[in-house]
Amino acid sequence: MDFKRARAQLIEHLRTEIKDERVLATMASVPRELFVTPEQRHLAYEDRPLPITYEQTISQPFIVALMTQELELHGKEKVLEIGTGSGYQTAILAELVQSVVTVERLEPLAKAAKKILAELGYQNVSVHLAGEILGWPEGAPYDAIIATAAAPAVPADLLAQLAIGGSIVIPVGSLHQQELCKFTRRKGKTHVAYLGGCRFVALIGKGAWEKEKRKLF
Ligand code: SAH
Repeated sequence: MDFKRARAQLIEHLRTEIKDERVLATMASVPRELFVTPEQRHLAYEDRPLPITYEQTISQPFIVALMTQELELHGKEKVLEIGTGSGYQTAILAELVQSVVTVERLEPLAKAAKKILAELGYQNVSVHLAGEILGWPEGAPYDAIIATAAAPAVPADLLAQLAIGGSIVIPVGSLHQQELCKFTRRKGKTHVAYLGGCRFVALIGKGAWEKEKRKLF
């Protein structure tokens, strides 16, 4: 299969909605086929989410592009990602900013992502196993935060890790359907913008979906 050609076609499709040229150029350079399972490889450049393992998914390319665009990255930022999963979104961010801290709660996924990101030569990424508190408070404050798993509301613990002036992009809603939201932290208040409907797997933890309430990993 000609992945290069399929990737170029996907970027042309994304271009109708996504206007940030840096985001498009980055997505044109990162090999999504290396972040999916061998069985899914032929579908790597369809604009759809795909199952990875452990009932998790690699996000739809359009959603990756939209979320990344909305972070308004210029190159000097330190970004936090919650939900490393396959590591694909992590790689996109690593191309665009100074450093990326990414957190995953499922150890096998964290390990696999760490391996592929290292193989691709990303040296500005640190992959961590999630702790008790959502995010990675040790590295705060972050210029931007992206959560690639859904929460019932924006978690206070994540807002607290955001620098003043920074934004967090996160799907907010029920377990089955959410709205992609962008919260910008201003002095004394938080501004919210709504970016459209979406469907993500659950963000598990205190301040999001508590593990006990559902049969989840
Ligand atoms: N950005 C990833 C999306 C993976 S799906 C990709 O495109 O591949 C979301 C991931 O969030 C899952 O791997 C899930 O295990 C993880 N997750 C859920 N709750 C979490 C938490 N509290 N901290 C870190 N990761 C979490």
